[in-house]
Amino acid sequence: MQKRKRFQITLLLLSACFGIWFACDCKAYADNEVVVVIDPGHGGENLGAQYDGYTEKDMTMVVAKAMQEELQKFENITVYLTHDTDVDMSLKERAKFAQEKNADFLFSIHFNASVNHNLFGAEVWIPAYADFYVKGYQFAEIQMAEFESMGLYSRGIKTKLNDIGEDYYGILRHCSSMGIPSALLEHCHLDQENDKLFYQHSEEQWKEFGKRDAEAVAKYFGLKSESKGVDYSNYEKVSVSMPKGAVKPDKSAPEVSEIEVLSVDEETAEITVKMTATDSDGYIQYYKYSFDGGLTYSDLQKWPRTVWNHSEPEHTFKVTAPFDREIDLRLCAYNGFDVWTESNCITLEAIAAPVIEEVPAPQKQEYREISYEPYAETEEISMPMGETVKLIVLIVLISLLIAVILFAMIAMLLKARPRNKRRRAE
Ligand SMILES: [Zn+2]
Repeated sequence: MQKRKRFQITLLLLSACFGIWFACDCKAYADNEVVVVIDPGHGGENLGAQYDGYTEKDMTMVVAKAMQEELQKFENITVYLTHDTDVDMSLKERAKFAQEKNADFLFSIHFNASVNHNLFGAEVWIPAYADFYVKGYQFAEIQMAEFESMGLYSRGIKTKLNDIGEDYYGILRHCSSMGIPSALLEHCHLDQENDKLFYQHSEEQWKEFGKRDAEAVAKYFGLKSESKGVDYSNYEKVSVSMPKGAVKPDKSAPEVSEIEVLSVDEETAEITVKMTATDSDGYIQYYKYSFDGGLTYSDLQKWPRTVWNHSEPEHTFKVTAPFDREIDLRLCAYNGFDVWTESNCITLEAIAAPVIEEVPAPQKQEYREISYEPYAETEEISMPMGETVKLIVLIVLISLLIAVILFAMIAMLLKARPRNKRRRAE
């Protein structure tokens, strides 16, 4: 009887312990459950950027779906898409959708194009205010590392304000007003040569963007995935201090933009240039060069940076000038917000184009040796001039000989005739 009672008490205690553990675990699970909304930029009539047969709304949908699929491989996360069919939604509707889902974050997916088709690289736009800036930056820093590991050129993590000092991008503005952290991802530019290799090979590349975006989200939220064998629960985010007021974009141009010509190669027309460019409240992102004093410029070039927001003050490189004309060398440095400053101009004397030696035409004899000559037989029987003269002389000599013989024979006949007549008379 005592044994039975002891057993009952043990069972009761075990059940109580299990109950408490189960309740705690459920609470922990519920607390850690992350809700993410992915917003495929554009849709329906709203096509987004279009270039070279590529349409932004098609690409963002593929990226968003791949991102969702990849994120669902992680535990403790629920992922929604603002829309998964080809429909347009207002920016407010997208933010509202995220609010209804009680989202912890909204990620808006985009591809870019620039007015002059000259910019290239990836960028992340974040809200300019308060905790939305802090969270946006912490996520964007991870996302930018993913972009860079793919080989994309970083155009930075940035804020943009409208005329009345609100966030310029509607999706960020609406999300902040509804209490949802957000970020807008511009994956690359559709209209510039440098970025084409990241999306023009196949649709698999678009999906790869989605997978990388998912990876950044998983790191940001410290998620785990047994199926993927990854655990980001100890992933350390960058520390960002809470801004006082708006974090404003850099609207001032780089202060320093100077050039010096180190050497000129007279044979190749290569000019070695040292450029110094700095921006006290930002960094240098691109440079371009001109041989006509700034009337026309080259494509934008990458400026060396140790990390995306820290540029080297000096850059030495070679540019190949055109031959046979005076050169007015001028360069131009761009900061991370595409504000630029032209350098001083250096005039160089024209570099004479190298004289191209004429290649002698192959001789006829050489040509005959290596090619089939259909009229060779005709040429073989045609006689050279000397041979013809010899033949004529020979014919003349033979004719003369025959003539002499004939003449001698006639003469003999004429002599013989009177003698016969005399004999008959005798
Ligand atoms: Zn877009």
